[in-house]
Amino acid sequence: MEPSAVRPLSGWGRFPVETCRIFRPEKPASVPAILDSGAESSYIARGLGRSYGDASLNGGGGVIALERLNRMIAFDDATGVLECEAGVSLAEILDCFLPRGFFLPVTPGTKFVTLGGAIAHDVHGKNHHRVGALSNFVLDFLLRTAGGEVIACSREENPEAFWATVGGAGLTGFVVSARLRLQRVETAHVLVDFLKVAHLEEAIDAMEESDHRYEFSVAWIDCLAKGKALGRSVLMRANPALAGDLPKGAGDPLSPKRRTERSVPFDFPAGLLNPMTVGAFNTLFYGWHRTISGRLADIDSFFYPLDSIRDWNRMYGRRGFVQYQLAFPKETSRAGLADVLQRVSASGRGSFLGVLKRFGNATAGLLSFPFPGYTLALDLPVNDGLVPFLAGLDAVVLSHGGRLYLAKDAVMTPATFATMYPRLDAFREIRARLDPRNLLSSSLARRVGILPS
Ligand SMILES: Cc1cc2nc3c(=O)[nH]c(=O)nc-3n(C[C@H](O)[C@H](O)[C@H](O)COP(=O)(O)OP(=O)(O)OC[C@H]3O[C@@H](n4cnc5c(N)ncnc54)[C@H](O)[C@@H]3O)c2cc1C
Repeated sequence: MEPSAVRPLSGWGRFPVETCRIFRPEKPASVPAILDSGAESSYIARGLGRSYGDASLNGGGGVIALERLNRMIAFDDATGVLECEAGVSLAEILDCFLPRGFFLPVTPGTKFVTLGGAIAHDVHGKNHHRVGALSNFVLDFLLRTAGGEVIACSREENPEAFWATVGGAGLTGFVVSARLRLQRVETAHVLVDFLKVAHLEEAIDAMEESDHRYEFSVAWIDCLAKGKALGRSVLMRANPALAGDLPKGAGDPLSPKRRTERSVPFDFPAGLLNPMTVGAFNTLFYGWHRTISGRLADIDSFFYPLDSIRDWNRMYGRRGFVQYQLAFPKETSRAGLADVLQRVSASGRGSFLGVLKRFGNATAGLLSFPFPGYTLALDLPVNDGLVPFLAGLDAVVLSHGGRLYLAKDAVMTPATFATMYPRLDAFREIRARLDPRNLLSSSLARRVGILPS
């Protein structure tokens, strides 16, 4: 079977770029036909390509793009349980169900991801401290294994395949469809409290003391601030707005405000995002925010601030960028975060998208990323010194017992990965049973040593 395209492909960070053979099935039955054709030595699933690095790339091999397999199958209004194909995007779920009073139970910072992609990284949102990761709301799914068999997976049925697939980066099979429990809401708005804090310690103190009062919590962190201002942040914490919180005459409480979409029409020149420009942005951002309570915000602007700028990844120029996302256990978070921020600010590699979140309980996903503690995500433009710089940061993260997120990673080594994910051997064992021929593989799996390269 011939691919529909053979071309250079990347994740959202546009780094790395690899030539892949892309298949775009229109119906679920085409997936086993592609796998059986023997046209490629290996395949990996792709959703909307919003993982940053190489999770949905398969350099020299087949990539099966599943976003056209996006039928809604069933919805139960009484329980909020939605059954749909894995290629349905979170944006499509919101378009259909927000007007009916249902929101996603967990959402990443973009709604342009598929449900299959979200399960494959067990994604977390701004409410992880309260509810954990997405899999806590996934009742079950159908998984097409590399052999073409479709198996039902849940906590009761094939639980090993369920927990290997959740966070398993597409390496156990293709999620065909899933049942997800949506969250009932009264409005398409949240009430946000902004709190400006002078340094990292104050940010963590505030999260420890009062995050339990908020369903959603996130902090923008100034990664270029140094000395006493290291880690100065703006905390943005929110609870769902009730119908009575909206001003009179606001119209349908469940109708989200439509935002004007802008786009980045070309790749910004290399070096435009340098310590000076990012520093100026950070100073403005920090200076502009005030500590205020109860500001009404619509769901799009609070949860998906960047989705209104199409192709915003082009701002980092042709060479792309890496989103470096780490998590530290609660006990080492303060020291670990300070260590990382000191190195980043001293390097002058400031990222204007520094995001700090508090994590709650882990799920049983064998390669699921979150565990109790704190997570920091930084966007760093690719340039000549970046890879060695990140190797140094990896050592710091390891020394504080931390780990990196596969959905974002582009440079981690096998030794680092194996230390960070102690359940890797259990994952490998289950994967080998589901795919004895190693027909599923990705550039990420080979790079971090989940599979032999
Ligand atoms: C602006 C932005 C903000 C983000 N914020 C967050 C955040 O707050 N929290 C968070 O956790 N993540 C976040 N992410 C990362 C994103 O949620 C994940 O990378 C997600 O997996 C992307 O989904 P996708 O459909 O684009 O999948 P892709 O990127 O195409 O693929 C990701 C993985 O899913 C696998 N996959 C895709 N479909 C299937 C399927 N049907 N069956 C089996 N495997 C499949 C692929 O093989 C690959 O390993 C963010 C990304 C962006 C761009």
